[in-house]
Parts: sequence; structure tokens; C-alpha cells
Amino acid sequence: MKIVDMRIHSIAIADPPLRSSYGLHAPYALRTIVELESDDSVIGITETYGGDAPARALEAIRPQVIGRSPYRLTGFLSAMVEGEGSGIDRSQTYLVPGENPLDQTTRTYAAIEVACLDLIGKSVGQPVCDLIGGRVRGEVAFSAYPFFKHTGGGGEGGDLREDEYGEVLSPEALVREVKQMVACYGFSSIKIKGGVLEPDLEIEAVKLLRQELGPDVPLRIDPNSAWTVDTSVRVGKALAEELSGGGYLEDPTSGLENMAEVRKRLMAAGITTPLATNVAVTSFGDIPRAVELDAVQIILCDHHYWGGMRQVQHLANLCKTFGVGLSMHSNSHLGVSLMAMAHVAAATPHLAYACDTHYPWQSEEDEVAAGGRVSIVNGCVTIPDEPGLGLELDYDQLARGRERFEKHPYRKRDDEAEMRKHIDPQWKRILPRW
Ligand code: MG
Repeated sequence: MKIVDMRIHSIAIADPPLRSSYGLHAPYALRTIVELESDDSVIGITETYGGDAPARALEAIRPQVIGRSPYRLTGFLSAMVEGEGSGIDRSQTYLVPGENPLDQTTRTYAAIEVACLDLIGKSVGQPVCDLIGGRVRGEVAFSAYPFFKHTGGGGEGGDLREDEYGEVLSPEALVREVKQMVACYGFSSIKIKGGVLEPDLEIEAVKLLRQELGPDVPLRIDPNSAWTVDTSVRVGKALAEELSGGGYLEDPTSGLENMAEVRKRLMAAGITTPLATNVAVTSFGDIPRAVELDAVQIILCDHHYWGGMRQVQHLANLCKTFGVGLSMHSNSHLGVSLMAMAHVAAATPHLAYACDTHYPWQSEEDEVAAGGRVSIVNGCVTIPDEPGLGLELDYDQLARGRERFEKHPYRKRDDEAEMRKHIDPQWKRILPRW
């Protein structure tokens, strides 16, 4: 079997005005859908970061992809998997995931790996999770991912989307948003995107959620490095009870040294809340120092930037060896990414936390998977018995996504620029802000 065609589709999908310490989400999130077609007309698909740079990077390796066997392609491309500068600071503290030039080849490799696995799975009639070690769970749990947000459902001009959740800029509104998400999807873990309101208001929001949902629903908060060490310790102490029982404090502050200091001071106060990260540890080269400093107790994997599904499994084994927990990170995405995340999670025993997903923030109107949106029931995605990822593309929907991309000016994610454009002309990302 040989790959005879590679089709790269840059698409735009509506995205609500969600806030984080990076700034504001644009009216459209950008994604890239890639198809690899074999000489026997089987098509493997993948979804990755969007905009011009990721599409260009994929286009650049076209000559290495065409004519190769999907069984051997990732071996042939293996020099790409580490990216540049493993062992140097590749952190995503200042760059949004998908915009870090140091992991561009890693991200490109990951996209190709998933498409090859889907193609192989569809050729041999087996689900992807069963090709990469076999499923250890048939259902993968995801967490609710509430954000503070402005009014609006995403989209622009004549393409405005329904605002399901309204404005959410207070602790009370956040609780309402979470309850609405839980009612709709059945989530049983909650990951709060913080770093937006004053820390005391975010403490209040987490306490209110605990009151409303009870002690059996794990709570996490991720302010994306918006806090100083002192503020992180203060919040960690204030939320010691609320973040216990399967919760965690994610990237309260920036850098492994600062994270280690927060950990040391919380432990000295008898608070064992684990610190999690998806920005201070983003490559294998970051792990020795993170372990040495006891800077993080949970690493958030993401096959999109860790180099694919098998690299996530390697990461899982390394985490297990060093007694570090494993959770999963997400960016705005559609169903192809969601199913890829579910497949790798299904075949990764060490993954013990419900995975992050932005999926509830996207709408049916933008989904490119045939048959519409992937179902999340009781907070879980069920691994289907269909071959590959279990998804085919809806080519009409894909064409609409391409038209949206062509029509609108967004070519890379820039949350700071969006914040200045819509909310505050003077706004700058300041780390730490509080
Ligand atoms: Mg994070």
C-alpha cells in the first residue's frame, strides 16, 4: 500500500469570545484537516492546528509523504518527532499551543502519524486504539471546561452563532455555565479556565462550585501562569479542600523553578494539592528538571504537540516511572481531534484523569465529521468498533469550513490582538498579572 495523495484543508470554525490569561478567542478558531489517500482508495484523516504556518509545514513534506507506505512513513519521518531544542526551554508560557516554532516539526509529525494510523486501521478493519497497544477502556472520560466569556457565540457578520451560555464574568455566572454544561454532557470533572478575574473572585467561583456540586466532583483551575508565586500559594491554601479529591492546580505561575517553589511552600503548609502543567513541560527534554525539582505532579499530554499517539504513550510510561500523574490538554477542535484524543486515551493505562476538551464550545454547524457531532454522554466518548478513528469526512461541511477560512482574515491565533480589538485597546498580556 502506498500513499498517492495528500489533501490539506485549512478551515475556520466559529468560536465564542472566551477569555484566558492569553487574551480573547477570535470569532473563528483555525484548524487543518488532512487526508492521506492510498493507492487502493482508502483515506486516512487527521485534524491539527490551523492557519497558514501549520498548513505550510504540512505542504513542505508532501514530497516525503507521496509514494510512501503508511506503515513506514513515521519511521521515515522520525527525525521530525523531537522538534528543535529538546532540553532547552520550549515552554508554551508565552506562545499559544500551535504557534511555537520549536515544536513545529513535532506537530507536523503528529498530524501525519494520526492520519497513517487511521489509514492503516481502515485498511485492516481495526480501531486505532487497538493498533497502538489495545484499549484498556471502552469509554474515555472528559471534563467540563468552563471559561469566563463575553456575550456572543462566535462567528462574524451574517455568520453569528447562538450564544448558548451568555456573558460569564462573575463567580455566579460561572456556576450557571458549569451546571448548563453538566446538564447537557454529563461531565463529572470540572476544569476551570482562570487567570481572568481577580484571584479572590476566582477563589470564590471555585468555592461556589464546590458548594453547588458537592465533594465528589473533582475541580481544577488553570490560570495559565497569571499569578506570582505568592498569589499561587495564597490561592492553593484558600482552595486546599476544593482542589483535593482528584483535582489539581494547573500552571498557577510560570517556569519550573517558580512551580517548584509553590509546591514546596504548599507542602510545608501541609497542602498536597498536585500542580499540573501543559506549558512548563512540553517535551521529553523538560522532564528531568521537572522531576528533580518536584515542580509538577501531573503532566498534561496532548498528542497534537507531543508528537502523536505513541509519543503520548512513551510520556505516560515515563510519568509512571517517576510517580507523575498524566492528564490531557486540549485546544479548540472538532470531532476528528476528539476521536484521536479518545483513541490514545483509551490505549494509555496511566491516564487517570478526565481529559480536557473544548468540544462543547464548537457547534454542529462547523463539524466536518460525517453524521455530525461526536456524542459525549455521561461525560464520556465511547470508542466505536469501526475501523480507524471511526470517522469519515462530510465533504460539504469541509467545503463550508474552507469557505469560512477564505472569507475571514484570520491566519493565526492571536488572543492578545483580539483582546485589544474588542475589549481594551491598551490590553497587554502581563505575566504574572496578580
Ligand atoms: Mg493549561
